[in-house]
Amino acid sequence: MTGRFAPSPSGRMHMGNLWSCLLAWLSARSAGGRMVLRLEDLDPDRCSQGYCDQVMRDLEWLGLDWDGGPVYQSRRTDIYAQAFRELEAKGLLYPCFCTRAERLAASAPHRSDGAAVYSGRCGRLSRAEREELSAQRRPAWRVRVPEQEVSFTDLLQGEYRENLARDCGDFILRRSDGVFAYQLAVVVDDGAMGVTQVVRGSDLLSSTPRQLWLQEQLGLPHPDHGHLPLLLAPDGRRLAKRDRDLELGRLQERHTAPELVGRLAYAARLIDRPEAVTPRELIPLFSWEKLPREDLVWEPDC
Ligand code: GLU
Repeated sequence: MTGRFAPSPSGRMHMGNLWSCLLAWLSARSAGGRMVLRLEDLDPDRCSQGYCDQVMRDLEWLGLDWDGGPVYQSRRTDIYAQAFRELEAKGLLYPCFCTRAERLAASAPHRSDGAAVYSGRCGRLSRAEREELSAQRRPAWRVRVPEQEVSFTDLLQGEYRENLARDCGDFILRRSDGVFAYQLAVVVDDGAMGVTQVVRGSDLLSSTPRQLWLQEQLGLPHPDHGHLPLLLAPDGRRLAKRDRDLELGRLQERHTAPELVGRLAYAARLIDRPEAVTPRELIPLFSWEKLPREDLVWEPDC
């Protein structure tokens, strides 16, 4: 059993990351499993080595450890390029010249998570049209998805299904600036790192059918999935990086690590009161059955 931390180092960790990291770690460690760390720093405009170092210090401060060295996505471009070529050789990829505005205009009704379904417009271009557009701008690359229903049983959310063509549409695997997309990198890396269990926020639930399908195309095994309820602000919004008070730097001014872990463990229904506790002390108390399934309001400092 191998679980993983997969933070995006584009700022300090915040409450939402801590929640996912703690529960992913507890799930792996309570099963006697390994835990690996991958820094999802593919976007050079948003990520930096400084943030990567900070993420690792923050995990250590909380009392969460990992096995082996950290894996940096920014150093694995060759591996993603190889998977990309494999999909290209299967005839699954096509260049997409749409700008963001065109993409939105060319999209069909919205998916359940609010994202637009791409119409497939650039997938129908003639060779001559492609050549003409190639001279004008660098394309992004999309993968052509079939009319196929993909379903899986989530450890918390139960059965989830999506029709790839209808609910998702052809999706981007490489941006026009050459950066490989999250969907490709995550599948390649989970496979290469031997990840058997993915625990993350339910905001990524709708990415899972795409990832399961890509795993099949690349001959990679499917991990199990547990999508955690989200932590919400008292007004019902999802907690975000802009909630500065919930950034770990600020939280550290007011709480010790066991206090914070205790509040998270209480929200996860692993303990009866929000009292100080270490991650290690929680290992025997963890079980998927105890965890809440609905999103939770995170009351600031109560
Ligand atoms: N890097 C993503 C994030 O921090 C998580 C990706 C994943 O768990 O698959 O939101």
